[in-house]
Amino acid sequence: SMTTSSVTFAQLGLTAPLLRALSEKNYLHPSPIQAEAIPHLLAGRDVMGSAQTGTGKTAAFALPILQLLSAASTTTPHALRVPRSPRALILTPTRELAVQIGDSFSAYGRHLRLRHAVIFGGVGQNPQVRAAHDADIVVATPGRLLDLASQGHVRFDRVQIFVLDEADRMLDMGFAPDIKRIIGRLPVERQSLLFSATMPGSILDLASRVVRNPVRVAVTPDAPAADGITQSVVNVDHGQKYPLLRHVLGEQKGLVLVFMRTKHSANKLAKNLSRDGFPAEAIHGNKSQAARQRALETFRAGDVQVLVATDVAARGIDVKGISLVINYDIPHEPEAYVHRIGRTARAGTQGEALAFCEPSERSNLRNIQRLLRKSIPVKNIAFTPAPPSPASTSHPRASHPAAPAHHRPATAHQHSSSSHHPRASSHSHSAPSH
Ligand code: AMP
Repeated sequence: SMTTSSVTFAQLGLTAPLLRALSEKNYLHPSPIQAEAIPHLLAGRDVMGSAQTGTGKTAAFALPILQLLSAASTTTPHALRVPRSPRALILTPTRELAVQIGDSFSAYGRHLRLRHAVIFGGVGQNPQVRAAHDADIVVATPGRLLDLASQGHVRFDRVQIFVLDEADRMLDMGFAPDIKRIIGRLPVERQSLLFSATMPGSILDLASRVVRNPVRVAVTPDAPAADGITQSVVNVDHGQKYPLLRHVLGEQKGLVLVFMRTKHSANKLAKNLSRDGFPAEAIHGNKSQAARQRALETFRAGDVQVLVATDVAARGIDVKGISLVINYDIPHEPEAYVHRIGRTARAGTQGEALAFCEPSERSNLRNIQRLLRKSIPVKNIAFTPAPPSPASTSHPRASHPAAPAHHRPATAHQHSSSSHHPRASSHSHSAPSH
């Protein structure tokens, strides 16, 4: 949820056209990252921010960029104005993020006369080329940007403000060479911002090429989980996750985002859910940009209730009305958990996060609880279990009559102590505190 501070946007030094747009969006107060970063950015400083999506970081850079560029344009006499070329460049890892950032510029800049272009791969380039020729602000993913630049459609020589968004994710996605090529073509005299959810050594190395004497602003990793999100763990055997999921979906009215580690399993799960009467789409890095965008729009519109996503694809998804996030598996990286659950309870609403934890995932869960500095309560959910599959049991099928299994509700916190006999045991675990 969006925690806000007690200062006002006006106190940060923002001008009337921006304040009007913000009040039209019903933003009452700046979020902490906005309150910290905006005054420094308006003063021309470089900023390095530890902040992930959901903290309000987009407005933290978009508002000052709009203000700085519009101040510069009004002081240039009209007759002296050269054709537009980008004065601000925002690099972001995914198409989804690029589109969302573009939408933010449209919303916050609606009372200003600046133009922006959004550039990303996987779709035809012509509309983007046209937009790029007339843009003050370019929001782009690195690959397509370099393509257009090499064809002469985007120039970098007048860039005054440069933003590297989600820097850690960009490095994970292998964008380091592209980013370095782009940085090498930017004017040395410029204002730069770098945002990253995490700050490992590789990011600090990169930062040394991007920012100069930056102000550091940070939002603690557990801020998005601070309030508005009810988190619980459901202990469940591997083979019972799918029946548990179907049960949970049957009880759920709002949009549900399900996370899985691998593309293959995400696809399979979406297919199985659709087959079983829970219309679902999958979104992951193997899908074309167009297919990802389609899936996201179908979900956003509520045409499917369930979106199954991998971490990379879902990073930055900002869909209002996700009431439940399910960790179908427990991520190895504790930070990924925080990112995942931050997809619900957006902008002050309520949300729920469930983590389906099988015995082999308990150590992952412990690492998450250590990062959050709290234990996640265990929730017991009664559901109809699946019969043991022939492959997972050494007992003949006949010794597990299917009918009683379907009629006797199981409780998800029950764990079998023997993997080949999933249903029979009622050995129960509770979440370790630390
Ligand atoms: P971001 O971290 O930039 O992706 O923003 C997360 C969400 O919070 C987006 O839906 C924004 O529209 C919203 N948001 C950003 N700043 C504020 C604010 N000051 N008050 C309320 N909502 C905000």
